[in-house]
Amino acid sequence: MLDTDFFRRWMTVAARSVDREADRLTDLDSPIGDADHGSNLQRGFNAVVATLEKEAPESPGAVLTLAGRQLISTVGGASGPLYGTLLRRTGKALGDAAEVGEQQFADALRAGVDAVRQLGGAAPGDKTMIDALVPAVDTLGESFAAAAAAAEEGAIATTPLRARKGRASYLGERSVGHQDPGATSAALLVAALVEAADE
Ligand code: ADP
Ligand code: MG
Repeated sequence: MLDTDFFRRWMTVAARSVDREADRLTDLDSPIGDADHGSNLQRGFNAVVATLEKEAPESPGAVLTLAGRQLISTVGGASGPLYGTLLRRTGKALGDAAEVGEQQFADALRAGVDAVRQLGGAAPGDKTMIDALVPAVDTLGESFAAAAAAAEEGAIATTPLRARKGRASYLGERSVGHQDPGATSAALLVAALVEAADE
């Protein structure tokens, strides 16, 4: 079972990982974006950790709902509302249970990913965070490690794609040959589950 502390750790580990990889995320966002993805997420996840400490939500669902709300209000770029929606919708699907099972979490995260698809209109293959998130929810029922590997593979597989959504899509053919920053950060978020479970 996954308790409130697990979800709190997930967000803390994600924030740490975004801090560590911020320069790389921003570098990936330079050739096909506006070089702010790392700093956007750094600002957002640091605010998430601060608000979780201050408000101390008491259920898995409440942790993710609060985190999502905070991302939406602190991240200016496209990724803020998208990641915010992911966490908020996942949190809502978890309801107010004190602990949730792995399968229940996998189902909730799928609902979250579906909400991101609806909000951003991106499908798999459009060279966005969806290309890491969909393979992750498809394998989350197996294990966190399997989901992390699938997300990482999905992120790497965005390189030869032509972007059809977001800022990178303005570049058309010129977006080919670059790994998508949002798919890369989505893989970090999924990898943080493994570390949160180990801690
Ligand atoms: P911005 O593009 O506003 O500068 P960021 O740089 O923070 O925002 O985030 C860019 C990332 O957001 C992209 O790499 C992509 O993965 C993701 N993204 C952009 N638009 C969409 C969309 N419509 N659906 C899903 N993901 C998207
Ligand atoms: Mg950007």
